[in-house]
Amino acid sequence: PLFRNARFETSIAKPSGLPSPSGPEIAFAGRSNAGKSSAINTLAGHVRLAYVSKTPGRTQLLNFFRLNCGALMVDLPGYGYAAVPEKVRKQWQGLIESYLKHRESLIGLVLIMDSRHPLTPLDRQMIDWFAPSGRPIHILLTKSDKLTRGPATATLQAVKRELAPLGEKVTVQLFSSLKKTGVEETETVVARWLAA
Ligand code: GDP
Repeated sequence: PLFRNARFETSIAKPSGLPSPSGPEIAFAGRSNAGKSSAINTLAGHVRLAYVSKTPGRTQLLNFFRLNCGALMVDLPGYGYAAVPEKVRKQWQGLIESYLKHRESLIGLVLIMDSRHPLTPLDRQMIDWFAPSGRPIHILLTKSDKLTRGPATATLQAVKRELAPLGEKVTVQLFSSLKKTGVEETETVVARWLAA
């Protein structure tokens, strides 16, 4: 499994601190509280891997995890958290924007959204920053266990329809860290990026 045994490697606070590329990078982004840390932990099969990203002082950083295959998983700061000063929020957004727009070794973006509140304005902002690169975006609609089958499928279809104008580089799936559903689908998509 692609994300198993991922190991924390380094954290950076500003674009100037980015390590020189040492493998293809897969970024994970999402609104704070969307379920990003849980999704990373579930994919890695590690209860507290992304905990490192949640420790005070680390939430504003880009955290790099090395996968067994040599690729890197990059956990971006959760955005949209209301209880931080505007100035700090601007700073994180600047860091995320610069990374998404300019990082050569970044080959794809996994965007985590709460399946009950998909495609918020900030989620669209991430897509707008990254889509021009022509690289793929895979959306995890997580906490899907909180929806029954009908509404879950309806949400999946609605998000797909909404993003259809961006073409085949955008893919969408349901995911649940609680039920551990969707893991294989995510692995398959990201493995395809790495093999391309
Ligand atoms: P982050 O801020 O995006 O890293 O979000 P967390 O992973 O910390 O999750 C935020 C909250 O949502 C926590 O209370 C989690 O327990 C809960 N949560 C995360 N994923 C799921 C899921 O798949 N199902 C359910 N029911 N709750 C989840």
